[in-house]
Order: sequence, then structure tokens, then C-alpha cells
Amino acid sequence: MRKLKILFASSEVTPFAKTGGLADVSASLPAAIASLGHQVRVIMPMYRSVMKGNFKLRSLEKSLDLSHRGRLIKDKVFYSETGRNPLIYFIKRDEFFDRDMLYGTSKGDYPDNADRFIFFSKGILNLCKLAGFQPDVIHCNDWQTSLAPVYLKSLYKNDPFFCNARTIFTIHNLAYQGVFPEQYMAVSELPPEFFSIKGLEYYGKINFMKGGILFSDIITTVSGKYAREIQTSEYGYGLDGVLRERSNDIYGVLNGVDYTEWSPETDSHIAANYNPEDISGKRNCKEELIEIFELEGSVKTPVIGIISRLADQKGFDILANAMDELMRMKLLLVLLGKGDEKYEEKFSELGKKYKGRLGVKIAFDTVLAHKIEAGSDMFLMPSRYEPCGLNQMYSLKYGTIPIVRATGGLEDTIKEFDPETEKGNGFKFAEYSPRAMVTGVKKASEAYQNRDLWLRLMRNAMKEDFSWKTSALKYIDIYNKALNRI
Ligand code: ADP
Repeated sequence: MRKLKILFASSEVTPFAKTGGLADVSASLPAAIASLGHQVRVIMPMYRSVMKGNFKLRSLEKSLDLSHRGRLIKDKVFYSETGRNPLIYFIKRDEFFDRDMLYGTSKGDYPDNADRFIFFSKGILNLCKLAGFQPDVIHCNDWQTSLAPVYLKSLYKNDPFFCNARTIFTIHNLAYQGVFPEQYMAVSELPPEFFSIKGLEYYGKINFMKGGILFSDIITTVSGKYAREIQTSEYGYGLDGVLRERSNDIYGVLNGVDYTEWSPETDSHIAANYNPEDISGKRNCKEELIEIFELEGSVKTPVIGIISRLADQKGFDILANAMDELMRMKLLLVLLGKGDEKYEEKFSELGKKYKGRLGVKIAFDTVLAHKIEAGSDMFLMPSRYEPCGLNQMYSLKYGTIPIVRATGGLEDTIKEFDPETEKGNGFKFAEYSPRAMVTGVKKASEAYQNRDLWLRLMRNAMKEDFSWKTSALKYIDIYNKALNRI
């Protein structure tokens, strides 16, 4: 086996900075690839959370010199040796990254996001040279890094340092494309001819994600079903045509789970540990959850958990519309979320209206997320679309039964439970509507009444294995495919 050198570029990596699943993937996938014998380095921006977090960092001796808007900017590059492969680099530029949030507040995106991530994308290639790390593969993720493959095919086209490098671009969420006014073309310093239909131009604007799709050697996304969905007009967010053009180079690779982080057997955040042979500890976790959210109900009442970014994608419009009906059923619901102001307000209101039955916490709280996974009986994900989704896979391991809309990675990972054959690991509904969602919840609640059947279902769920190794091997296969091309 050829040992590869891989640079993995991402705008968020757990535990340094996180807004969603990308951070988890950017921590565990590079580690899984490294554990298979490859040399992996990760690069991300140096946000405030990195500087304020208690991380042991060192800086490279030489500074990184980048031109931006006609200025030559020199700044330090930091790195963290987590004691193992992969090493993580941080591109520092306080005017761009020393902020409370990564991309914006609940009121909207930061207005200079184009500048911030043009700067970061340039930094990805420059850092390779500065660190003397000549990569076989540069693996970029989402629009924040998607200009790096474009730079490689333009400004760095004849650079011998990169002559054998291949690029992989992974789409974690097609809805966030990085679309900005045309004037950012000049800021990017890309050749003007790249602003065309065959390039980054998109209805008179510049579309960063389109660049990643057109100029990377191979494109991947995070589930097989989503790889097919994004090539249709319903899920393609205006880029389905561009994706269809490259359909022979698109692969779906399901995300994995880091079970050192997400397993009820070892989880240090939960009230009691448990495993498929002895699930008694789950009851303590449920009692603690009921207490935290000040719910009025016995441990016999099913608790449904939700942990999510509060975004349109996640189905909060149908959830809000179904709430009155759900609250007429014998169940309790807890919601941990942060995001769009309209949903933060709506669910805070609903939390007051249904105090004692619906617990709402508007926050980003990783410890509470673990407690919800462990203490709930069911986990609801009514997503409009879901590229992969991690929480349904975490839930399975905690014996917390997913109720999901059959889309993207949710469709690929959840198999409908059949009480006759006792096979399956969750419940699904197809139509994106409050009615269909309520029907899904009713199916689960009915099954919950039969204790033996439910225990069987929990065991099926806890036995599922989505560890990273299978997917890491698929990525290595894809890297080799790209490298074997002339
Ligand atoms: P997405 O990346 O679209 O947000 P995923 O299901 O892929 O969705 O990943 C979401 C990740 O973010 C999970 O690890 C989940 O636990 C975490 N998460 C989302 N919202 C919160 C929150 N409010 N508090 C803590 N963790 C959260």
C-alpha cells in the first residue's frame, strides 16, 4: 500500500471550533485515515475559540505571507500536536477570525465572509509550501475551502511543488454555497476568465461551491442517497446541472461515528453508563433529563429528544405546526438548539406554553447533547433534507430510537422497524408535512407501549456499527482513483 500525504482543509474541527457535523467529521475522518498508516495534516482558521480554549499550541518559525486586497499580510501559523498524527495547523488573522462565532450570528452571516474564506483558501496552498508538506491529496470541505482547488488549477498550475497533487472536494451541505457579488472575483485574484458559465459565475455573482465542484478531481458527498438527490432539481439548490455534468466523478461516502466520543458505555457526561447487555443505567439518564428540563411526567412516559441547528433544513416549520397535536399525545419532548432567530423565538414561546411537557434550551451545549442522547427514548429528525446526519447514528448507539424523515443519510441509515419480523432500527416517514411527522411519532409511541418489543428494537439499534474505518477505506480508494488519473 502506498503511504499517502493528505492535507485536510476544513472551516471547523472538534474540539477547536464547532457549529455542526462538519466539525465532528473533520476531527474523526482525518484521524481514521491516519490510523490506516497515511500521513495526514489538517488546516483550519484560528478562531477565538481556539485562542481562548486551553489548547497547547506552537507556532511555525516563519510567517505566512499572503497578498490580500493589495496588501501583503504576514501572520503566524500555529499548530497543535495532539500527540499523534494528524497535526493541526491554524491560520491566524485576527481581523477575520478573532470573533465569537464562526460564520455569523442569529441575525445573519458576517458581511466579510467572502474576504475571510478567500484568505483562508489562499492560506491552504501557501501553508503546504511554508511547512514543506508536499501533499498527494488536498481534501477540501464545503464552500469555505472550495477555492483551493480553483487556485491549484489556475495560479499554481505550473508550480512544480503541486505538480502531482490531486484535489477532493466533499459537499457536506449543498445549500450553503458561498455566493457573493462579482467584485469578489478581483479580491480572489483568480484570472478573470474564470468568471464564466464554465467557471465560477452564477447568475452574475461568484459561487465558491461551484468552483469546488468544477475544479476538483473528484467530488464526494456524505451519503449515497444525498449523492443522487443533489443531482435533481428538487435538492440541487441551483447546482444540480453542474453536478450532473460531473456525475461520473461524484461518490457518496457515509460519515462515521467516533465511538470514543459517542457511546453510552464510556460517556463521561451522562448520569450512568450502560450497554446492550445491561441497559439499566438508561433509566438514571432519563430521570436526570426530566429533572434538567423540569418536566412533569413519570419515567414511563416516552421522552423524545431533538438536538439541532435551528435552520429551515431541519424541519422546524413542520415541527412547530405539529406541536399542538404532539402535546395532546402522551409524551414529553426536549429540544436543544441554536440558530435562526425566528425559530429561537418560536420554540422559546412554545416552551413557555407547554411548560412541563416541552423542554426548550436555546444554546449550543455539547454536554447537554450527550445527556439528551442518553436520556431520551426516541430522537426526532424531521429534516427537509439531510446530507448525512450524525445524531441519528449517535442515537442508535444510545438505544434512543430515531424517528426520521426518509431523506439523504437518514434514509440510508435508518431501517423501518417491523414488529412482525422484529427487524429494523427506527421509524421513518416520507412526506414533508406535520401530518406525516405526527404519524411517524404515533407509530413509535405505539411500539413503545410493548416493552418487550421495544427492548428488542433498542438492542437492534445499539448493535449498529457506523465506525469510521469502513468509510476511511472508501476515501483512500477515492484518493487513489484521483492519483491514478493522468
Ligand atoms: P449539521 O451538520 O447539519 O448541523 P449533523 O447531524 O451532521 O447536522 O451534525 C450536528 C452535530 O452538531 C452533532 O454532533 C450535534 O450533536 C451537534 N449539535 C447541533 N446543535 C447542537 C446544539 N445546540 N448543542 C450541542 N450540539 C449540537
